[in-house]
This record gives sequence, C-alpha cells and structure tokens, in this order.
Amino acid sequence: MTNLERHSYDVVVIGAGGAGLRAAVEAREAGLRVAIICKSLFGKAHTVMAEGGAAASMGNVNDNDNWQVHFRDTMRGGKFLNHYRMAELHAKESPDRIWELEQWGALFDRTAEGKISQRNFGGHEYPRLAHVGDRTGLELIRTMQQRIVALQQKDGKTYQSMESHLKVFPELTVTEIIKEDGKVAGVYGYWRESGAEVLFEAPAVIIATGGVGKTFKITSNSWEGTGDGHALALKAGANLVDMEFLQFHPTGMVWPPSVRGILVTESVRGEGGVLTNTN
Ligand SMILES: Cc1cc2nc3c(=O)[nH]c(=O)nc-3n(C[C@H](O)[C@H](O)[C@H](O)COP(=O)(O)OP(=O)(O)OC[C@H]3O[C@@H](n4cnc5c(N)ncnc54)[C@H](O)[C@@H]3O)c2cc1C
Repeated sequence: MTNLERHSYDVVVIGAGGAGLRAAVEAREAGLRVAIICKSLFGKAHTVMAEGGAAASMGNVNDNDNWQVHFRDTMRGGKFLNHYRMAELHAKESPDRIWELEQWGALFDRTAEGKISQRNFGGHEYPRLAHVGDRTGLELIRTMQQRIVALQQKDGKTYQSMESHLKVFPELTVTEIIKEDGKVAGVYGYWRESGAEVLFEAPAVIIATGGVGKTFKITSNSWEGTGDGHALALKAGANLVDMEFLQFHPTGMVWPPSVRGILVTESVRGEGGVLTNTN
C-alpha cells in the first residue's frame, strides 16, 4: 500500500458523458480543481450513441412551443410520476443549454431560415428536438471535449500546466466512494490496463456514471451502463429513488446478431413510422 497512487482535488467527477463533462466545466469555471474519471476512453461515453436529438422548446419550427408545453408533455409522458421540479428545470433550461453548446462550437442542423432545426419525436406536441443528423450525442460530446480542452489551455497559460486544475483520468474504474467521519472524502479505483489501484482525495464527488441498461441481455445501451454509480451511491449510504423506471427503446435491430438490440432511432416514430407485428 505504500506505493498507492494518490491524487487530491476539490471535486472528483465520475463519468465523462454529457452529464459529467458539463458538471466538470461548471466546477472548473467556479475556480475549483477538478478530476474527471471515466472507465472508457475520453469521448467514448454512452452519450455518443444518442441519435435523435435534444428536446428544447425553442419554438423555431412551431412558435406555439414554450417551456410550459414541454413541461406538460414531460409530465404526461411520465404518467405524472416524474419529479415535477426536475421536469420543470429541464423544460425551462434546455433552450439555454442548446445555445450554450452552439457558442462552444456545436453545429446543429438548420431550418431554411437558418435557425436551429427541430424535429418531431414521440410524446412531444411540437417539433422540438435540436439535432445534428442522427449523431447528436457525438456532436455534444465532441463539443464538450473541446470546451474542456479550451479550459485546460487557459490554465496552461496561467499555471504553466494544462492539467494543473482540470485533468481527465480515462480507462480508470471507480469501485468505491471513500468516507471519513461520515462525510465523503474521495474515491478509490483501479487503472483498467494495469490493475494498479488509485486513491483520489476530494471533499466533493459527483456521480455521473449513466444508466443501468446493460444489465439486460438485449439492450441499446453501451457496455458501460452497468449501474456502477447506483451501487457506489448505495454503498456510500445514499437513497436511490424511482429505480423501477427504465427506458426501453421500442425499435431496435434484430439481425445480424452482432448488432442485436442496437437502436433504430426513435425519430422513425416521430416521422410517422408505425410499430406492427407479423400480422
Ligand atoms: C441508444 C440510445 C439512444 C439515445 N438517444 C437519445 C436521444 O436522442 N436524445 C436524448 O435526449 N437521450 C437519448 N438517450 C439517452 C441518453 O443517451 C442518456 O440519458 C445520456 O447519454 C446519459 O448521459 P450521462 O452523462 O448520464 O451518461 P453516459 O453518457 O452513459 O456516461 C457515463 C460515464 O460514466 C463512466 N463510468 C461509468 N461507470 C464508471 C465507473 N465505475 N468508474 C469510472 N467511470 C465510470 C463511463 O465511462 C462514462 O464516461 C439515448 C439512449 C440510448 C441507449
């Protein structure tokens, strides 16, 4: 144990998908030293597999759209079991997040007048999904990565080291959240390549490890979605809520076996596709 690799940060973010990268940007911009840990390569999170787009009531295609209608659609889609405050924040803030992505370098598809295009999607009253062809998640992650590098370059000028205040630790799996005197004190994990163990000391840990869908045999989720964060949080004493809710895509590949379960984009239904049986 004397040779244990150790690091110390203000914030450790576990996960480099859309959620983790956005949290890391916010923490760094607030002046904190941040570590981002992910068990795959940087830029390979499940988020890159999101195809359809990001729902935001910008009203670019139908100007009747607004956050209240988006909020209603979200609550209705969730059979009114959703956490209404989360649904409200999502509906209110998503247009700003789309603009933010554009300011950071994302390039969404356009309407004929040059506005950000929005497409139909199941459960949404109006065309609402900002998209980049069918590779929206890839563009989102590419943009967030670019933002992380821009912040690192800024730190490079100030501190003569690009990684002094914001560093990515790829291919490192976190196995435990460390607590001291009842409080979160860091995380413990191992390098996937060597198996060597690593300790991160940090008074704040953000869990952004994605979903749990890969626990099913046939799934549209990437290999990473094994619910690690749920387990880490539970073991650290957190309460998990609404665990019975899982999204299953109704349209997926059947053949060939190598791609079984891979998503056929949900927007096929938004564009009028109908699900039938053999009859
Ligand atoms: C096929 C598919 C298509 C989708 N399309 C859309 C869409 O069009 N629009 C939409 O809004 N949503 C879509 N979704 C949902 C959306 O993709 C996810 O909700 C979103 O990407 C989750 O982002 P995230 O940052 O929470 O997690 P992820 O992108 O899954 O990232 C999780 C991160 O955590 C890391 N991690 C996990 N466990 C550990 C560990 N133990 N140690 C270290 N790191 C760990 C992973 O390496 C990864 O970096 C789709 C989902 C699927 C399955």
